[in-house]
Amino acid sequence: MRSLEEAFKNLGRLKKDVSLKEFTTFRIGGKAKYFFLPFSEDCLKIALKILRKQVINYYILGGGSNLLVSSEAIEGVVIKLDFKEILPLGNNLFYLGAGVSARSILNFSLANNLGGLEFLALLPASLGGLIVNNASFKDNSIFDRLKRVKVLQPQTQKIFFIDRENIHCTYRSSSLKTEGLIVLGAEIEFYPSSLREIKEKIKEVIAYRKRNQEVGRFSAGCIFKNPSPQILAGKLIEELNLKGLRKGEAFVSLRHANFIINEGGAGSEDVVFLIEYIKEKVYNRWGIVLEEEIERWQC
Ligand SMILES: Cc1cc2nc3c(=O)[nH]c(=O)nc-3n(C[C@H](O)[C@H](O)[C@H](O)COP(=O)(O)OP(=O)(O)OC[C@H]3O[C@@H](n4cnc5c(N)ncnc54)[C@H](O)[C@@H]3O)c2cc1C
Repeated sequence: MRSLEEAFKNLGRLKKDVSLKEFTTFRIGGKAKYFFLPFSEDCLKIALKILRKQVINYYILGGGSNLLVSSEAIEGVVIKLDFKEILPLGNNLFYLGAGVSARSILNFSLANNLGGLEFLALLPASLGGLIVNNASFKDNSIFDRLKRVKVLQPQTQKIFFIDRENIHCTYRSSSLKTEGLIVLGAEIEFYPSSLREIKEKIKEVIAYRKRNQEVGRFSAGCIFKNPSPQILAGKLIEELNLKGLRKGEAFVSLRHANFIINEGGAGSEDVVFLIEYIKEKVYNRWGIVLEEEIERWQC
C-alpha cells in the first residue's frame, strides 16, 4: 500500500503533526497526524476514495467554532476545505464556497449592498460549518437564505446539488450532517439593501453578542442545547450556582452560564470534566439530560 504522502502528492497540501489548537476557537486540540488541504473538489474526491480504501478516518474542519478536540494526538486525517470562491449567478443569487468565512460573507455584503446574513456578525465559522449545523441567531437561520447546497457523498464520491426544500433542518443540525455529506458550497440569495442598513443590523448583532455572550475569549459558543425553547440550558446551570465553576484553566462563564471559557492553558480533559459535572447536577436536580451542542473529536 502506498504511503499517504505519496498517494496525496498531487491532490493538495498534506502536512504532518499539525496542532489543532490554532484551528479551534476553544484553542484546545492536540496534533493531527495528517492535515490535508485539497487543491480542488476533484482532488478531494480522489483523496476520499483513497482514505476509504485504506480505512483511514477523516474529519472535516470548518472554522473550528463548535468543536472540542482532544488534547491528545488526533488519529486520521483532518481535512480543511479552502474553497473560497464567490460567484455571481444573477438576481442577487451567488455561489459561495464552503470555506468562505462568516467575516468574508459580511465584507462581501457590505461591499455590494446585499443584505440577509447580518446575523453572522462575530461568528468565527465557515459557510460549510454554518450550513451543516443549521446556524441561527434569534429568528434568523442560514437556511432562510439558501437555495441549493453542493455536496460530496463520501461513499460514492459523487458531487451533486440538493435543493433547500429537500434538506431537513433540526436544532443545530441538518440531514446533511446526519447523512455525512460534505458541503462544498451553496447558492445564497441576498437581497438589495443599503450600506447604512447593513451596518446598522451588524451593529445590533454585535451589541447583543457583547452584552449577552462571551466575545473575544477562547470558547466554542454554547456547550449544551436548550432542552426546549422555554427551558434554557444556561438558566439551569445558573440556578445551580455553577457560574465560575473551574477545572484547571477552564471555567463556566460568569456572563453566560452555557459558555465554558479556556483561559489559555486548558486541556480537553478540563472541559470534559466541567461538562460531565454540569450534566450530572442538572440531571440530579430536574431529571433533564442535557445534550451537547458542541461536537467532540476523540474526547
Ligand atoms: C463565540 C461563539 C458564538 C457562537 N454563536 C452561535 C450562534 O449564535 N448560533 C449558532 O448557531 N452557533 C453559534 N456558535 C457555534 C458555531 O459557530 C456554529 O455551530 C457554526 O455553525 C460552526 O461552524 P464551523 O465552520 O466553525 O464548524 P466546525 O466547528 O469547524 O465544525 C463543526 C461540525 O461541522 C462539520 N463541518 C464543517 N464544515 C463542513 C463541511 N464543509 N461539510 C460538512 N461538514 C462540515 C465538522 O465536521 C463538524 O462536524 C458560536 C460559536 C462561538 C465560538
